[in-house]
Amino acid sequence: MLTTNPYDDDKLREECGVFGVAGADGAAALVALGLHALQHRGQEAAGITSWDGTHFHTHRAMGHVAGNFDRDEVIRALPGTVACGHVRYSTTGETALRNVQPLYAELASGGFAVAHNGNISNAIHLRRELVQRGSIFQSTSDTETIIHLVATSGYRDLLDRFIDALKQIEGAYSLICMTPEGMIACRDPLGVRPLVMGKLGDSFIFASETVALDVVGADFVRAIDPGEMVIVKDGELRSLRPFSAIAPRPCIFEWVYFSRPDSIAEDRSVYSVRKAIGAQLALESGVEADIVVPVPDSGVPAAIGYAQESGIPFELGIIRSHYVGRTFIQPSAEVRRLGVKLKHNANRDLIHGKRIILVDDSIVRGTTSLKIVEMMREAGAAEVHMRIASPPTTHSCFYGVDTPERSKLLAAKLNVQGMADFIKADSLAFISIDGLYRALGESERRSVLPKYCDACFTGDYPTPLTDHNEQALTQLALLDEPA
Ligand code: SF4
Repeated sequence: MLTTNPYDDDKLREECGVFGVAGADGAAALVALGLHALQHRGQEAAGITSWDGTHFHTHRAMGHVAGNFDRDEVIRALPGTVACGHVRYSTTGETALRNVQPLYAELASGGFAVAHNGNISNAIHLRRELVQRGSIFQSTSDTETIIHLVATSGYRDLLDRFIDALKQIEGAYSLICMTPEGMIACRDPLGVRPLVMGKLGDSFIFASETVALDVVGADFVRAIDPGEMVIVKDGELRSLRPFSAIAPRPCIFEWVYFSRPDSIAEDRSVYSVRKAIGAQLALESGVEADIVVPVPDSGVPAAIGYAQESGIPFELGIIRSHYVGRTFIQPSAEVRRLGVKLKHNANRDLIHGKRIILVDDSIVRGTTSLKIVEMMREAGAAEVHMRIASPPTTHSCFYGVDTPERSKLLAAKLNVQGMADFIKADSLAFISIDGLYRALGESERRSVLPKYCDACFTGDYPTPLTDHNEQALTQLALLDEPA
C-alpha cells in the first residue's frame, strides 16, 4: 500500500508553488525547471499547461517534478511559447489527479487555465451557491471555484469577469492564469502568498520565489504587489490594481520556514533573515551550553545566527538523510517507530557528554521534537535545551498552509513548561512575537494592522473565515439537536 509521508516530520507545509513563462520558445521546459526549484512548496503532484497559439495542452501527475517532467516526450507534448505550472501539497481537496493543477476549463471566451498558491477561505460557501445555480464541479479543489465564478459572471469581457470573480473570494491567492490572449499573474490584496516577476530575454517569467528565476537564468524584476494584476499580451506588459487598497499582510512564516533560504524577498535574503531570527533568539533566551546544534535542514540558518550571537560553537550534531521520500511503502509498526532515525541521526561522537542547544524552526504537534530530544539523550547528551525560531504555533492556518486542527497543536494545549515536559527537554524557549518582528527590521509587532499575517501565532486572522465559521455553526446546531 502506498501512503503519504509515514515518517511525518511534524512540520507545517506550504501548499503550492506556481511558475509561468510568457513568450519563450520551449516554455514548458522552462516551467519544468522552475517547478523543480519550487519542489519544496509542494511534493505531492505537479502539472504544466501550455498554449501553442491554437490549442492548450496539459500534463498533470502525482509525484515529484523530476520523474514526471524529465522525459522528452512529455515536454514535446506541451508545445508553445506560453506555459504555466504548479506543484501541490493538498490541504483543500483530496489527494487525487482531478485536483492537480493547473485546472483548465473551456469558457465562452475560450480556454482558461489557472495555477493557484493559497487557499480560498469562503470556497465552500461560494461552491454551495454555485451548485445551486447549476454549476457542475469536476474537482474538490477550492481553486475550481474561481473558474466557475469567471464562467458565471455577468460581465462580457474576460478580464472584467476575472476581476468580478476575485472580488467575491476571501483568503489568499497568488495566481497564474492563461487564456488564448496571454497570461495573467495576480496576488490577493493582502499579498499573503508571494509572487515575483522576472525577465528572460524578451519573455516574462512569474514565480512563487526568486530561486525559481535563478534556475532558468532569468533576471529578477520585482515582486507583484499585493492586489496587483499583471497582464502579458502580445509581448507587452500591463499592470492593473482593480481592488480597493488595504494594508498588506504577507505571511511571516515564509521567512521562518516555507521559502527557500536562497530566495530574496522584500530586497532581503531569506537566509540572512533566518540568521537574524536565530541571533534574536539567542539574545532572548541564552543558556549555558557547549554546542549549538541545528535540526536539519530548516533549523540550520537560525542555529548559525544563534551560535554567532551567543559565541557558542555551531556543530552538525544531527545528520539528515536526503533519501527519505514523502511517499513510501507502508512500513511495519516497528520500522515506523524507528522512522525518525531514517531521516535524522545523532552524530554520537560529537554529542556524548555535551550540553546541547537544539535549534529548530517550529513545533507543531511536538512528536518529532520529542524523538529528536530522546535521540540526543541516547547519544549521551548531558543536557538538551530546545530553542525555537518562531513563537508558539497556537492557531491553524487557513491561507494555503497545511496545519493540523487547533486541538492537535501542542502550543494550543500546553504552556511552554508543559511543552518542555512533553518533549523531555531540560529547557524550551521560543522567540517572542516582537523579537520575530525585530529580526525582520521592525521595532515590534504593531497591535493594529501588523505588517505581516502572523495568525498562526496570534489568532489575528486578516480576512473573514467564512467556511470555518459556518462549519463551526453547523457543528453547534448538530449539538443542539434533540437526541
Ligand atoms: S496563518 Fe501563519 S502560516 Fe498561515 S498565512 Fe498567516 S502567518 Fe502564514
